[in-house]
Amino acid sequence: MTEPTILPPAASPTGSLPEAEARAHLLDPDGDLTGWLAVRGHPAWRSRAILRWALARRAASFEAMTDQPAALRRDLAAAFTIRSATVAVHDRAEDGTEKLLLALADGQRIECVLLRGGGDPAAGDDDGESRAERITACISSQVGCAMGCVFCASGIDGVVRNLTAGEILEQLVHLTALLPADERISHVVVMGMGEPLANLDRLLVALERTQDRDGFGISPRRITISTVGLPAALDRLSAARPGYHLAVSLHAADDALRTRLVPVNRSIGLDAVMAAADRYWEASGRRLTFEYVLLGGVNDAAEDARALVRLLGGRAALVNVIPYNAVAGMPWQEPSAASRERFLTVLREAGVNVQVRRRKGHRINAACGQLRRAAAQANQPSTVTNTSTAPRMPPSQTIQ
Ligand code: SAH
Repeated sequence: MTEPTILPPAASPTGSLPEAEARAHLLDPDGDLTGWLAVRGHPAWRSRAILRWALARRAASFEAMTDQPAALRRDLAAAFTIRSATVAVHDRAEDGTEKLLLALADGQRIECVLLRGGGDPAAGDDDGESRAERITACISSQVGCAMGCVFCASGIDGVVRNLTAGEILEQLVHLTALLPADERISHVVVMGMGEPLANLDRLLVALERTQDRDGFGISPRRITISTVGLPAALDRLSAARPGYHLAVSLHAADDALRTRLVPVNRSIGLDAVMAAADRYWEASGRRLTFEYVLLGGVNDAAEDARALVRLLGGRAALVNVIPYNAVAGMPWQEPSAASRERFLTVLREAGVNVQVRRRKGHRINAACGQLRRAAAQANQPSTVTNTSTAPRMPPSQTIQ
């Protein structure tokens, strides 16, 4: 079995990004704040206090950390950056969904989204609080994506690089800054740009920090990793940190169709994906979610639903059906209401636990990779085709 090459991040071992930023990222372990403080004779507790300022207390600069000595604050500002990215676009939808396009220090762009309320079951366990009070951050793990899913905007230009742990965590800093002081992020879904399991080591460091009580204090039960299902990396996750909620993107229940929609499936196959998902379930004891994007006329027939029932084979999993969010220039269609209902009925009558993902932030291109693409296209001659006259099923191909 071959799996996609795991890219190194663009950062050097010291955590600094080439040329663009000479300072270390405060949120990157490579920046080693504790070691930096120790060398200068400061007590270790200052490290927690400084991180607390940067994360929980939302300080945008070292200057704002007023209970720290002024000279230390000046030295910190010369050595570290709290926010290496800047907000290039901030968009807000009527339903309260907010999307940020962040410009990284090397000029690359990534997206992250803040979703309010909603009952998206893929966003971790329902553990007491009302779903209406949920504030979910959707974050990216890579610039671009190498998986090549033919309907997804993130992978159209392939993958550029992995994000550093600091860049992954920093998305939560920018999203938290959008909230009033008395509100905080309650859930995290790694469902933005990129394939999280292709950048697993840095993702794990960032998610570990996400739980820090001096920072965002988000329990692993409320953190969801969504993956196309890379078995070797999934096994590493099972062994290292099985506490996260796992969502596996299926989108088809037979290998021929899945390989057409999710080209990386060609070298993996559904049997290996399901077996690795089962091993994660055994390690975590937590119900799995399987995601299924419904593409009109492609994978939304009653027979597709029956094939999915057979594939699930009675597993106590949740199926998260996602009506396709149309991407300009792509020939795929949203499912009709009738085909969606038919698909759901087949699943429900077979006893499958199924939820339809509520659409959020539709107007602001909230699906993976759409805003980055729209922003890039605004500076280029339009390549958008008329989706209504495009063929319903393109030839089998990868977009990259
Ligand atoms: N690489 C991860 C994360 C992708 S984003 C994965 O494959 O799971 C989370 C989900 O959104 C995936 O299931 C992805 O296939 C789906 N998705 C991507 N583009 C979409 C679109 N335009 N409409 C609906 N769902 C989409």
